[in-house]
Amino acid sequence: MKLEVQTNELSSTKTIDNSQINEIYESVGDEHFSTGLKTPMREDAFALSDGEKKEQIADLFSQIMDVMGLDLTDDSLAGTPHRVAKMYIDEIFSGLNPKNKPSIALFDNSYQYNEMLVEKDITFYSNCEHHFVPIIGKAHVAYISSGKVIGLSKLNRIVQYYAKRPQVQERLTNQIGMDLCELLETEDVAIIIEAKHLCVSSRGIKDDTSSTTTAFYGGKFQEVNTKQEFQNYLNHA
Ligand SMILES: [Zn+2]
Repeated sequence: MKLEVQTNELSSTKTIDNSQINEIYESVGDEHFSTGLKTPMREDAFALSDGEKKEQIADLFSQIMDVMGLDLTDDSLAGTPHRVAKMYIDEIFSGLNPKNKPSIALFDNSYQYNEMLVEKDITFYSNCEHHFVPIIGKAHVAYISSGKVIGLSKLNRIVQYYAKRPQVQERLTNQIGMDLCELLETEDVAIIIEAKHLCVSSRGIKDDTSSTTTAFYGGKFQEVNTKQEFQNYLNHA
């Protein structure tokens, strides 16, 4: 499979083999490159229960607040470490745990729909793994059925699952693309993600207008006409 990753921040488009994915991440530069397709996790990542993790995170987060000089006895701040811990484990980073992966049922393509299916403007919220601040974006997902179809809301759920991790946009794009190839039993899958990174807009270079676009084109989507058809659907409301 070949991947095409495009970032409009760099105005570059490349087509690469899987073996070269790391090079792409490095070419993205800044501190925004990742080391592989898999989210880097330790072997013992799930040795602790969710409850134990929340307890430890709350404790550690209260230490961060304390070091910064915040008064944790203040009514408004007292519950913050627990709120943050619960939010990390149950919500914004829940996609780290495979037990939270949406269960996907495939159906036979009984309506004989053999054209491209496009689900566009899937809004997602993720977090940059380098700064732990939000990435806000839209994902556009397309596939051509190999004889199996998937419930439309499941495409949305797969996007949300991978978004709920500390992420870099390139990895998010590839994780969604690769997983859908496997689930749908076809390589004919395409993903385009457009996102705003708060680590770029609210801090650092403070550029509020730039956004980042990444793409995954598998199978038939590497053909110019198919790619064009997908992009036409995205350009028309
Ligand atoms: Zn960042």
